[in-house]
Amino acid sequence: MHRLMSELFPICRSITGEGVRATLSHLQRHIPLEVREVESGTQVFDWTVPKEWNIQDAYIKNNKGDRIVDFKKSNLHVVSYSQPIHAKMTLNELKPHLFSLPDNPSWIPYRTSYYKESWGFCLTHQQLMELSDEEYEVCIDSTFENGHLTFAEYYLEGDIQQEILVSCHICHPSLCNDNLSGIALATFLAKTISLQPNRYSYRFLFIPGTIGSITWLALHENHVAKIKNGLVVTGVGDPGAVTYKKSRQGDSEIDRAFMHILKSSGKDHSTIDFFPYGYDERQYCSPGFNLPVGSFMRTPHGKYEEYHTSGDNLDFVQPQYLEESYNFCLQGLTLLDKNNTYLSQNSKCEPQLGKRGLYKAMGGDADGAKREMAMLWVLNLSDGHHSLLDIAERSCIPFEVVHEAAEVLRNHELLKEVNG
Ligand code: ZN
Repeated sequence: MHRLMSELFPICRSITGEGVRATLSHLQRHIPLEVREVESGTQVFDWTVPKEWNIQDAYIKNNKGDRIVDFKKSNLHVVSYSQPIHAKMTLNELKPHLFSLPDNPSWIPYRTSYYKESWGFCLTHQQLMELSDEEYEVCIDSTFENGHLTFAEYYLEGDIQQEILVSCHICHPSLCNDNLSGIALATFLAKTISLQPNRYSYRFLFIPGTIGSITWLALHENHVAKIKNGLVVTGVGDPGAVTYKKSRQGDSEIDRAFMHILKSSGKDHSTIDFFPYGYDERQYCSPGFNLPVGSFMRTPHGKYEEYHTSGDNLDFVQPQYLEESYNFCLQGLTLLDKNNTYLSQNSKCEPQLGKRGLYKAMGGDADGAKREMAMLWVLNLSDGHHSLLDIAERSCIPFEVVHEAAEVLRNHELLKEVNG
């Protein structure tokens, strides 16, 4: 995942344009993404798909002709969606268009100007302080044209038509935790899930933030009833503890699944309630859709210093954190996939487990005792109304153990899947 991030890092992405296309075509080396394009000007609910923005070059030259701010050194130097400009101006004329971070003087901020016409440069505060009162040549070689908004989907058909949605944003330039970490995790999750049999169908979305999810929802309004669970993944590679943000519903299956695996892990974590800010969960959880879509992250956006700065780089995001995040996400989705409801085939009093060899570990190891306890819980609550997650929550036994017990009982024909 970290290597994939380092390959995607140099690309100048925005909400539209060649950077997004280059990113998606790189991802196609890993998974068979279907790339889709929606024309500029398309009305999507209250929004309009914007003109396509592309940039070739940008710089500020001093009066000696040196590029003192150079887009070729970092694509963060240009405010994303800047209008083209080529002019000479004084420092005073230039200053309102310059952005820096006085508190972190060696970092370049990340700024955008998507929905208003303007232009600007981001630079380190050290660079800003060094500017003298002279004439500067300012150039942003960008284009705004009627073009397309680009996004991609990877659909994996499971046993049932109901879907699990996994969504990540692909619209930030050289920023790692914010965008690339989610892209890398979603890509590898898709790879793994494609290699195993699945009950649910899966849809992986790689979309520009906000306008991408709004566009996708506008195009698939009649389809969303199939989404039974969803997860927005972003900010999954920083050193902070993992965070799960609940869906607007607050008690949907995916909310309960992630709360259960995080709690069972014994690791440091937090769960937070839905709030209408953040990433694309804002759109999936808007009241007209109210989809059961939660978000998985580590430190929430804006709560780490490196957020939206050049400090959010390949050193800030580390493989071990990506791996831990990936494992949690895979575990959570696997739980959903295995969360069946069963009916005990022997509901009048307990079945005699001993004669079936299922009381093997009596008086033995603690794990054996735990497995037996799980079997008793599964047999008792499998009345057709309790899922395995219900049973895991009520018994305080990890889902994996409950599921394993159910498999053993099913193999002994003591349980039957409901609607299965
Ligand atoms: Zn961001």
